[in-house]
Parts: sequence; C-alpha cells; structure tokens
Amino acid sequence: MVISPLQTYEKLLAAYGEQHWWPADTPFEMMVGAILTQNTSWHNVEMAIANLKEHQMLNHETIASSNLHQLAEIIRPSGSFMQKARYLQHFSLFYIEQGERKGLMKWPMSVQRTRLLALYGIGPETADSILLYALDRPAFVIDSYTKRLFVRLGHFDHILGYDGIQHYIQQRLPESLPLFQEFHALIVEHAKRYCKSKPLCGECPLFDCCPTAASSTVEISRTIMPDI
Ligand code: SF4
Repeated sequence: MVISPLQTYEKLLAAYGEQHWWPADTPFEMMVGAILTQNTSWHNVEMAIANLKEHQMLNHETIASSNLHQLAEIIRPSGSFMQKARYLQHFSLFYIEQGERKGLMKWPMSVQRTRLLALYGIGPETADSILLYALDRPAFVIDSYTKRLFVRLGHFDHILGYDGIQHYIQQRLPESLPLFQEFHALIVEHAKRYCKSKPLCGECPLFDCCPTAASSTVEISRTIMPDI
C-alpha cells in the first residue's frame, strides 16, 4: 500500500516542523531567488542576492535599466551569470509592464502562469515557485527532489513529465496555499537530510512506508556483510 501524498506531508511535518519558507524580505526578492536558483545551490543564490543588495540593485527598475555585463558580474556566484542576467532583465521589464505585483494579482492563476511561462528563461518549476511563494497561488512546485521522493515512495512506475506529476499530486491533496508552501519546503528539507541521491534510509521518518527503504537496506547490508 502506497502512502498518500497527504500522509507523506503529515509525517514530514511531524518530523521536521514548519519550515517558514521562502527566505526573502520582499515578493520581488522571492522572484529573483526563484530565477537565480535554477541549476545551482541555494547557498550560491544567497551570495548573488547579497551582492545585489550590497550594490542596491535588488529592485525591478534598477535591474531593468542596468548594464547587462555589470548585472552579470554581480550575480556571478549563481552560475550561468550572463544567461541569468538576461532572464532577470526580461523578468523585471515584464514586472514593470504588468504593474508590479499588484497588477499581476488582478489575473487568475492560469493567466499568471501562462504569462510567466511565456518569458525568456522561465520554465514550469520557476513559474510555480513564483506563483506559490511570491503571488500566494496554490501551484504545487515539482522539482527534482519531489520527483525523486514520489518515485521512491512507489507512486509512479514510470517518470511522468512535469505537468503529469503536478496533476497527480495536486489531485490527491486539498487545494491549500499554506499546505502547498509547507509541503514543498518539507520535501526540500527531507531531500537534504535523508532522501539524497544515495538515500540514508536507516534514520528516515518515512522508512516504515517506503518500498525503496527495504531494497536499500538489503544493499547496505550487502555492503557491510557480503554474505547476505
Ligand atoms: S526510506 Fe530512503 S528512499 Fe524512502 S523516503 Fe526515506 S530516504 Fe528516501
């Protein structure tokens, strides 16, 4: 019997407590973080955001009108910095055109998502992170940690695409903004602590309900005791 997404959420919440995401002072900072975090660690994003703050550039108008090369140098710690500087400028121009957050909030979530996805450098994971944490919309974010966890818990016998996984999980959860925000943060915490690319199943709070735990225990046992 596969543990449901809601039960998974409850177990992770009991194990780790509330995560109080997203770490940012303003919604625009959240949006910048969602763009910069593509293909890099959060530590690198923090350095890039600290640089933007130090240069007083963490502002949509300043980013939109900045010199591209100077902006790229400032966000260099986030990696792919020329590309991400372009993404940030395109996004900032869009943000101004839309009337900032207030203007964006006039649209239903489906329109907001379509407009975000039409932007240069914004894919579904980034768009949903912006929707969920900066625009307070119930869009469940599917990142590599989420895919890995639900595959290991036995939900998919093949890898679905982004939209397929999102639909599958959202169908099985109450549509709740705080729940979606908290669940994504808990999954990230869980992936960092235990459900790594090489999982540490022995101490995992989902050990008793995870089909992968049994097979990895056999693997671990084989390593320690070759005769098993
Ligand atoms: S038991 Fe192992 S594979 Fe399963 S969720 Fe925990 S760490 Fe991941």
